[in-house]
Amino acid sequence: MTDALVIHVAVPAPMDGTLDYLPPAGSAEPPAVGSRVRVPFGRRRVVGIVTGSGERPRVSGHRLRRIQEVLDTDPLLPAELLQLGLWAADYYHHPPGEVLTGFLPVPLRQGQPAERRPPEYWQLTETGRGTNLEALRRRAPRQAAVLERLAEAPEGLPVAALADLEGDWRSALRTLEQRDLLVRTTPRQSSATIAPPALNEAQQQAAEAIVESLGGFRAHLLEGVTGSGKTEVYLAAVDATLARGEQVLVLVPEIGLTPQLIERFNARVPGRVAVLHSALADGERRDAWLAAAAGDVDVLIGTRSALFTPLPRPGLFIVDEEHDASLKQQDGFRYNARDLAAVRARDVDRPLVLGSATPSLESLHNAEAGRYSLLDLPRRAGAARPPRMELLDIRGQPLDAGVARPVQERMQQHLDGHGQVLLFLNRRGFAPVLLCHDCGWIAGCPRCDARLTWHQHAHRLRCHHCGYERPVDRQCQECGSTDLRDVGQGTEKLEHALSARFPDHGVVRVDRDSTRRKGAMSDMLEQARRGEARILLGTQMLAKGHDLPDISLVAILDCDHGLFGSDFRAPERMAQLITQVAGRAGRRERPGEVLIQTHHPEHPLLDTLLREGYGRFARTMLTERREAALPPHTHMALIRSEAVDAEAPKAFLEAVREAGEAQCGDDVLLMGPVPAPMERRAGRYRAQLLLQAAQRSPLHALLRRLVPVLPDLPGARRARWSVDVDPQDML
Ligand code: ADP
Ligand code: ZN
Ligand code: ZN
Repeated sequence: MTDALVIHVAVPAPMDGTLDYLPPAGSAEPPAVGSRVRVPFGRRRVVGIVTGSGERPRVSGHRLRRIQEVLDTDPLLPAELLQLGLWAADYYHHPPGEVLTGFLPVPLRQGQPAERRPPEYWQLTETGRGTNLEALRRRAPRQAAVLERLAEAPEGLPVAALADLEGDWRSALRTLEQRDLLVRTTPRQSSATIAPPALNEAQQQAAEAIVESLGGFRAHLLEGVTGSGKTEVYLAAVDATLARGEQVLVLVPEIGLTPQLIERFNARVPGRVAVLHSALADGERRDAWLAAAAGDVDVLIGTRSALFTPLPRPGLFIVDEEHDASLKQQDGFRYNARDLAAVRARDVDRPLVLGSATPSLESLHNAEAGRYSLLDLPRRAGAARPPRMELLDIRGQPLDAGVARPVQERMQQHLDGHGQVLLFLNRRGFAPVLLCHDCGWIAGCPRCDARLTWHQHAHRLRCHHCGYERPVDRQCQECGSTDLRDVGQGTEKLEHALSARFPDHGVVRVDRDSTRRKGAMSDMLEQARRGEARILLGTQMLAKGHDLPDISLVAILDCDHGLFGSDFRAPERMAQLITQVAGRAGRRERPGEVLIQTHHPEHPLLDTLLREGYGRFARTMLTERREAALPPHTHMALIRSEAVDAEAPKAFLEAVREAGEAQCGDDVLLMGPVPAPMERRAGRYRAQLLLQAAQRSPLHALLRRLVPVLPDLPGARRARWSVDVDPQDML
């Protein structure tokens, strides 16, 4: 091979395109497109990805450097994922090398060999099955937990299925092996252990539409009210896809919050299910990623970045809870996994299913425009009926820890009737404000424009925006008074109040503090399912798809801020949250009831939502967005900037605006710069410039010209910046 050839390499660095290198010394063949190479970059050596090759230009400005090492003989990223990565880099205006290397699990990104450890499966022995779990639980709780998990799967489980267990389950595993209670086994296709229910007519129609579209591209929006049986529709479509010998990719919001979905897939899919999520160790992620890439996985379930897993036989893409904000990455490469799933499905010519009880306005818009086919599940499955929703006017009413008397009475009735109660309060901690009663001083975060939340259990004041914390003040920092009082309610305070008011019923609190420990979430849900806890309270973590059969009353304590949020998406988010939380009520024969406390019982948004449901509400909002020329009818990008110096971000964005205005015609509107809604966060001042256009193409044409020159603009060295295409939050 001669040096007439140059290899294009995407390197993980903030640069616009790829770099050209000479082939490695003495090699006969150029490295395969999609394989990793080690290359010199500045004074460092980095791992990059080969995107192509070309002829060496006759006159070249500078001396080309040489690839030092080829790390893969076969491409690690198939052409299809390279194409997706380059498309996404262009669309989100993010460096292609960072996008593509970001697709890889960390060990592969660092250049380690693309080898996986042999899959490790474990199974109970005869003796293991006969173990007295009760006794073992007292003596060796970790061993008991491992045995218990394995007892759920007679054919054995991959070791990754134990990863969420608490503590050192690895050494528990070894001890159990020595005691002959379990053995290593060979992986086997799981056989479905539970027979599916007969689909109702709506489910059947939806499943048929998806199955008919297998083998080609088609995007379906599965709009099914809570409890309508969307998962059963997915499972039917999965069956048909596996029967074609193809693979399925399922994206879910947060694995830790949806243990039930994984359990259901494991129990029902006659094939090899793998899970990719952040609780896995790097090596486990690599193994699962490589197993899927080798075609040894039939169904891959994962959070947003699982979308970037190679699949040799892709057959179906499913995005569950497609409205969920976690599908959008909020830093670095700010992609939306839902939107990229549509791009990937189109690229490989296979169908996509987006499912939700509360579809995003973007997806409803696509359905109205005929780009997505709308599959409707208007009723709950089985015997369950929709819950009865009621607004409770709390103006002037006495509240105990934020709970009105009528709510407490209704709770008592439901508990007496052996129902379960769920209270929703989207604020963790004990109290959101610590106030000096003598002078009015409020404990604020020294690094943010925000108040500190009092966490009573931990005896700390914490900032929920930057992580700052300190012990609780004993004295006012202004006047020295010791009369400091808590104002407002958080979930901790509510938990105290409820435990005191209903001492005979177990109370479980679900929020980010109480679920920090691995496996805590599933334990709490299990407690609720067994009926040990009859009162559940918590934040939006409780809204996500849980199927708890005995919940008969849901009370939403505070949703009023959603009515007046500064973000134009605030009402949509509020409606989704109310609907999802309400959807936890009455999921079986027992009828459900939902009480919503509000100071604004006449608010038209609440009225539409309650009288006509989320579907009508969302379509009304969509019309309003059209009239206000807001997304999804128009397109936005946000250029954010931040610096320790208060003026630097604005000054830089002024320069960006000037450069932008010189480049664009009337097609793109530049608005700002304005301070971010919370101007100072983590010690930095923040500002933003909004770009808006009726059509995508002029917006992207402008960004394509503007983004590369940002580093050369005045003030660029004094402020950080980032580009967010289709921003979800205006923060
Ligand atoms: P969704 O995801 O739409 O909220 P699920 O798939 O969790 O709904 O289903 C809600 C409940 O209804 C589950 O317990 C499920 O087993 C049950 N279910 C679903 N489809 C049927 C059906 N066709 N017949 C009886 N029960 C069903
Ligand atoms: Zn004071
Ligand atoms: Zn802070």
